[in-house]
Amino acid sequence: MLLSLVSIAVVAGAVFYSAVREHSELYSRYVESDLNALSDNMANDLIAVLNEPNYFFDLKRYLLSLEPYPNVIGAAVYDPEWNVLEIYAGAALLNQSEFEEVEFSYWDTRQPGMYRQDDHLIAVKRIGEPTLVFGYLVIINDLNGPIRDSRTTLALRILPVALAVMLVLMGLFYFQASRWLWPLTRLSQFARQVQETKDYSLQIRESGKYEVSSLTRDINNMMDAIRLESEINQEYVELLEQRREEMEYLANYDSLTRLVNRQCFMTLLERSIAEIKPQQGDLTVMFVDLDGFKVVNDTLGHEVGDKLLAEVAVRLKKFVPTEDVVSRHGGDEFLVLSHEAPMDMPLLAEQIVKGLSEIFVINNWEIRIGASVGIARASESGYDMHDLIRNADVAMYNAKSMGKSRYSFFNPEMLEGYQRRIDIANAIDQALSHDEFILYYQPKVTSEGQVIGAEALIRWQSHTLGFVSPGEFIPIAEQAGKITAITEWVIEQVCKDVQEYFSKLPQKVPVSVNLSSYDLKKFYFPDFIKSTFDKYEIPTELLEFEVTEHSYLDNLDLANSFFRDIALLGCRVALDDFGTGYSSLSYLTKIPIDVIKIDKQFVDDIGASARDDALVLTIIEMARKLGMDLCAEGVETKSQRDFLAVHGCRVMQGYYFARPMTLEKFREYMATQAA
Ligand code: C2E
Ligand code: CA
Ligand code: CA
Repeated sequence: MLLSLVSIAVVAGAVFYSAVREHSELYSRYVESDLNALSDNMANDLIAVLNEPNYFFDLKRYLLSLEPYPNVIGAAVYDPEWNVLEIYAGAALLNQSEFEEVEFSYWDTRQPGMYRQDDHLIAVKRIGEPTLVFGYLVIINDLNGPIRDSRTTLALRILPVALAVMLVLMGLFYFQASRWLWPLTRLSQFARQVQETKDYSLQIRESGKYEVSSLTRDINNMMDAIRLESEINQEYVELLEQRREEMEYLANYDSLTRLVNRQCFMTLLERSIAEIKPQQGDLTVMFVDLDGFKVVNDTLGHEVGDKLLAEVAVRLKKFVPTEDVVSRHGGDEFLVLSHEAPMDMPLLAEQIVKGLSEIFVINNWEIRIGASVGIARASESGYDMHDLIRNADVAMYNAKSMGKSRYSFFNPEMLEGYQRRIDIANAIDQALSHDEFILYYQPKVTSEGQVIGAEALIRWQSHTLGFVSPGEFIPIAEQAGKITAITEWVIEQVCKDVQEYFSKLPQKVPVSVNLSSYDLKKFYFPDFIKSTFDKYEIPTELLEFEVTEHSYLDNLDLANSFFRDIALLGCRVALDDFGTGYSSLSYLTKIPIDVIKIDKQFVDDIGASARDDALVLTIIEMARKLGMDLCAEGVETKSQRDFLAVHGCRVMQGYYFARPMTLEKFREYMATQAA
């Protein structure tokens, strides 16, 4: 469009230029003929003037008649011999001498005629006839001035019209061009609209012909494709967003209880501590650990256990102010971050302990558990998040050891016990590598005193910690994941002792090894036992294993497959501490158990009341009916022995007969027995 407009302007300019040129040409010709006529007339008139006797004065006056002609520069009259008679200097000339300075081209020929020289038009006329010459007349006319003037006049007259025409033309052209381009302009506007609104559902009405309409159609199709694509995209984005939220939820929340998880709790705690630390403010962390949860999980199953945890979470949230944070720390442990004033904490802890000890009803089971709560303050823990949680944990542990279902505030003395647990856990590795463990054997005897077995019981004389009882370090080893290494050591040692001693005894004295429930979870364990037997080439029936009910109830299938492997090896299995696991008895029919060991607590109660006695009798009766052997643990008195013997429990173990002893002592013991 610009190119066209420029072209129009150029053409218009060219037309204007040539018009002006043409005009100049015409005008100069007109001026020439005008001058010709004027000079002819004057030459005629001058015949009469020159014929006067005293013509000088008349001549001067006559030449002055040129005054009205502004373009006449000057004029001169000569005699026939070309001597100047009179000179007239016109408006354009200042004086006569200037006129004389002008060099004229006709001067050489001195012929009458019209001449053009530079910007001048010169008329040279003869005065009189060729045969009778009176003189000559020369008139010099300015040619440029008049042409310029006339050109200006013309331009002033033409230019507005030309400009107007050009503008109209341009307008028309622009209008027409816009009309032609309108379909494209529409498309461009449409594209801009889409760009601005981001609305891909827009469509443009089809119009125009041929290419334009097909372009419009194509654009509409493209819009459809984009809309479809962006809809898919939108769905995808929503899905991603949903996923991200889910991930965030998973990362920060516990899916079972819908409480914040440990990681999120740590972040919140860290932030809160950073906030209060500069002003030496305070906050509290409560460590809540359920009492008896494991039993529920073991006896009623994981589904009930899970629901119970969720219910516990609901109750906890009810007691704790909304601005405080309740989180599941793992397993049956919960953490509460509280901003309550220290003096309000006992009340809150009380509420939690009491609230969680009330009955839960889950799947129609009425379940009673409890909670032990440890409380620690940030200011007492050096504003260190990890120390703070540890202190709450230590206080909780203290509450547990004080008898559970209670709360306990942290105090630094408690760290000693905690430290001891850590020391014990750390010292176990060294104990294994430095042979600090030894095995004691406690005889299992018949009521008549005949030794028919022995239980291997571990002892630890630590170089750093002194004597540590198995009751103390075994649970710690279990928690620290070191129990299996210990069990492996025990089995190896027992096999050595059996090979060296027990297998050489005249009568059969099998040795029992205590297994932890953690050992049963090690899939390689049966293979380990078998390869150790092979290594020491001992008869497998000289080994027995004792497991507690927990080992079973943790995972019945796993335990069953484990004990089937053990049975295949030819070893017997005893159920240790029978009666302490709060278990339902029905599982007894489902597991491959050879011996039931009546727990010491039942034996202790023999003779205390008729009901206690009845309980022992029931266990004896039950074992007989199930075809299982019996062994009573912890027999300390003659009356206990007698009661058990009379009622058919043949095998016993206890201080009344013998304490656990070194292998050396055991040899001596066996020797005296034989004697
Ligand atoms: P347990 O398996 O029930 O072992 C019997 C415990 O009762 C032994 O305690 C034994 O010394 C003690 N005892 C036996 N007769 C009497 C008695 O007449 N009166 C009293 N008051 N106690 C008696 P110990 O050796 O201190 O072991 C405690 C527990 O540590 C064991 O209970 C067992 O659960 C565990 N344990 C001991 N040695 C090992 C081991 O080698 N491996 C594993 N996994 N656990 C072991
Ligand atoms: Ca045992
Ligand atoms: Ca026992």
